[in-house]
Amino acid sequence: MNYLFEKVTVVSADTESQVDRVENTAKTEIISDAYVLVEDGKISSVDREPPQDFTGSRIDGRNKVLMPGLINAHTHLPMTAFRGYADDYDLHTWLNSYIFPAEDKLTDSTASVFSDLALAEIIASGTTSLSDMYFFSDTIASRVAEAGLKANISRAIVSFDDDYDIRTDKRGQELIDLVNTWHGYDSGRILIEAAVHAEYTSFPKVWTSVSEYASERGLRMHIHLSETKFEHEACIEKYGMTPASILNKYGIFNVSTSAAHCVYVDRDDIELLRQKGVSVIHNPISNMKLASGICPVSELLSSRINVALGTDSVSSNNSHDIFEEMKCAALVAKIRTNDPSALKAAQVLRMATVGGAIAQGRSNECGALYPGMDADLILVDFDNPHLIPSYNPVSNIVYSARGCDVVMNMVRGRIVYKDGEFFTIDLERVKRQARAAANIFR
Ligand SMILES: [Zn+2]
Repeated sequence: MNYLFEKVTVVSADTESQVDRVENTAKTEIISDAYVLVEDGKISSVDREPPQDFTGSRIDGRNKVLMPGLINAHTHLPMTAFRGYADDYDLHTWLNSYIFPAEDKLTDSTASVFSDLALAEIIASGTTSLSDMYFFSDTIASRVAEAGLKANISRAIVSFDDDYDIRTDKRGQELIDLVNTWHGYDSGRILIEAAVHAEYTSFPKVWTSVSEYASERGLRMHIHLSETKFEHEACIEKYGMTPASILNKYGIFNVSTSAAHCVYVDRDDIELLRQKGVSVIHNPISNMKLASGICPVSELLSSRINVALGTDSVSSNNSHDIFEEMKCAALVAKIRTNDPSALKAAQVLRMATVGGAIAQGRSNECGALYPGMDADLILVDFDNPHLIPSYNPVSNIVYSARGCDVVMNMVRGRIVYKDGEFFTIDLERVKRQARAAANIFR
């Protein structure tokens, strides 16, 4: 099906320098009353005049903004089971006393239904591509495949085995099977990444083995890095090096890496991340909720490091709404630096779109809205009271819009959600099963 968006306001971050270049001042392209043609899954034209002889489906874009789908570059889908399960703890108490014991009760079928629930929320709030790091990854991949979104999926390795070998470890074998089954599925709609959960949940032998496998198979890497002061300082005490430097020593950054959090990275770490081309995934709400700290985003951007946004799991957030994440990213950077210009709306929009695409290795296919890109698009209803007036739509997107303002979600030219209706998820079934499945955690 081909689509024509008529008289719509187009907003896209930094289209000219979308590939490879990271700038501290982001450009934004805004076109009012535009006609956007989607043919064969791609954006084929963005124009001020309607195309001649169009025969597909027309979508009224008046008082609406058409923008690239948002990218959630760090989450853990099945943990949607733990929304509101253990609030108001620090990361280590939250994990050790509540989340790890609850995860022991997760089964493949509960992981499946809560992944579906997460995907419904993600779709309805305007995300078109996500990066997930967890276990039950084969189930997650099959749920994403059916939901119609794009995803980079990884099976996180946790191990303290001094003789670790990815090929003999059960978790490592799951990663290898995942790569063999899903990497490149549907012309790259699903990609598999290697992942080490974190420095504090593994050993050097794990890092070498996983990174060698990633290099061999041409995979990207995903890891949690310096999320808490405790973790950062315990690593220095244990190895005499920061998490970034010790992980680098054992090869983790030899492949393109997404490092989630990076709250406690020091100046040398930042230089190392820049040299290695690591993307930092900023999760401001999770970091605030667990009182972990504030990622130094302004310093990262001025060091020309790519920064993307993630929600982390909803059990430390407690939603998958990237609009909330954008607003909080902007606000928390201002508080951290005592400077209202520390992180501007256009920069935040870029992080949530182009930045996410770079982190996923997808910047040639999505993250920006111009001809030739995949039609991964969302339509935001600017007719809602809290989005009027609109002097600058970028300001409204970052500071005023909410996930529930999204009225359409399209991935590769296929509409997966429109006006409250889901076309790839049986929402009533999912809600019923999720409510029943939650009983095992009570
Ligand atoms: Zn995480």
